[in-house]
Amino acid sequence: MDPMSETTPEPIPPNWPVIATILGVLFVAGGLIYGLSQDVGLLVVGILGVGVCLAVGWWLGAETTTAHLETQRLAEAAQTGGMRTSGMGRLDDTRDAIRFARAAIEASPDPVLIIDQNGRLVGTNQASRDRYSIDPGQSRFSAVIRRPNLVEAVDEVFATGESRTLSVESRVPVDRYERVSIAAFSVDSSRFVLMSVQDETEARMSERMRADFLANASHELRTPLAGIIGFIETLRGPAREDEAARDRFLEIMHLQADRMSRLISDLLSLSRIELNEHVAPTARSDFTAAVQEIVESLPPDKQSRIRFAPDGDPLWVIGDWDEIQQIAANLIDNALKYGGADSPVKIKLNGWLDRETALRLAMRDWEGASRLPLTSPELERDRLYCTLRVEDAGPGIARQHLPRLSERFYRVEETATGKSGTGLGLAIVKHIVNRHRGGLVVESEQGRGTAFAVYLPQPFELEPARSEPSLTPA
Ligand code: ADP
Repeated sequence: MDPMSETTPEPIPPNWPVIATILGVLFVAGGLIYGLSQDVGLLVVGILGVGVCLAVGWWLGAETTTAHLETQRLAEAAQTGGMRTSGMGRLDDTRDAIRFARAAIEASPDPVLIIDQNGRLVGTNQASRDRYSIDPGQSRFSAVIRRPNLVEAVDEVFATGESRTLSVESRVPVDRYERVSIAAFSVDSSRFVLMSVQDETEARMSERMRADFLANASHELRTPLAGIIGFIETLRGPAREDEAARDRFLEIMHLQADRMSRLISDLLSLSRIELNEHVAPTARSDFTAAVQEIVESLPPDKQSRIRFAPDGDPLWVIGDWDEIQQIAANLIDNALKYGGADSPVKIKLNGWLDRETALRLAMRDWEGASRLPLTSPELERDRLYCTLRVEDAGPGIARQHLPRLSERFYRVEETATGKSGTGLGLAIVKHIVNRHRGGLVVESEQGRGTAFAVYLPQPFELEPARSEPSLTPA
């Protein structure tokens, strides 16, 4: 049956009691007129007049009856869940109406939930099932949305019938900003609430990042810029004729300009990654090949310090090639920079690990060392993970610095080597790892060295039969 089809109105059945009443009234009126006037002409005119009046009255009554029947039919349609409007056609039964409503909310790209007055979830779409990880068996709204302010707002909309809009912020697993609209509606005598969610993270993040970028960048760029301006003034004045000083100053100016350019490129990549942080990657990349390429791109004096022996098999991760390469490049660069001249840097890659083994291999390798997760997501129980651990044999980092290592522009003074970086490398790694729903950890012991490790989800799940996950690629 086509729910959009129109129907023709049914004919009105003859109303016999009304007809009998009209004939009776005509008979009595005729008797009265003749009895009073004894005039046949007057009798005919009188009967005709009364007849016309009654006919007009009956017609008006019949119109009213038609309208009444029509209203009644609409009410009946509403009772059975059907719907009739001139533009939409008719939905004939409850099932059509439900199918129509389901298809309409399923088509929404934003999460949509319908809640009944008993707090049960009676409608969800794919976007809401993904957003709130709703299992097919879950039916209580308050069990799915564990945010007291949203549950309260839904109760309030049920109580007042007035729509509400809320801004909701969440911090775990990543910062997220949403606008939630809650509106009440009724079908028959049952009342429902429709909750729709709009993701505003991207807009809010870009707004915040613009402000942060200006504050941080201007502060960090001012130092090298002030140096360059100072040297230009010296070269124009006292050192104008001093050739040796000029060469030395130009060399320093070149280094400062270089630093400014690195700062700008690091700040830009950080902004780009943060902007997309809440959108998990979907691509598969080979982590072994990505790390291998970074190692091979190092100059020979640095390459000779690397200890990396991949087995040659691909190690698949759910990740963007460029971003996982940036993780490896930043960690290896730091280990070479802060690990002490000529000391070796070990790179360890492991895959096909359950979450506990991945965490242990990433951050519990050195007995007696201090260790700290710098970002720790909720890990999936059945997911396989891989780890990249980069160890150096440098002076190590004192325990009190560990919590601040991935903050933007944070640098540990004692590790300053003269070749200090931008202070953004670990912040970039942290945000890439967040986006990949993985973790970043540090383990360090003064006098022994420092190890930074990341663990990332692989596009595979743990096989139920396998009790001990293998450490070698399958
Ligand atoms: P930078 O560009 O300064 O290297 P990072 O964000 O990469 O910025 O690192 C932040 C700080 O953490 C560094 O300035 C350094 O003090 C410390 N650090 C990072 N990696 C190591 C390491 N492997 N060993 C010792 N200290 C490190």
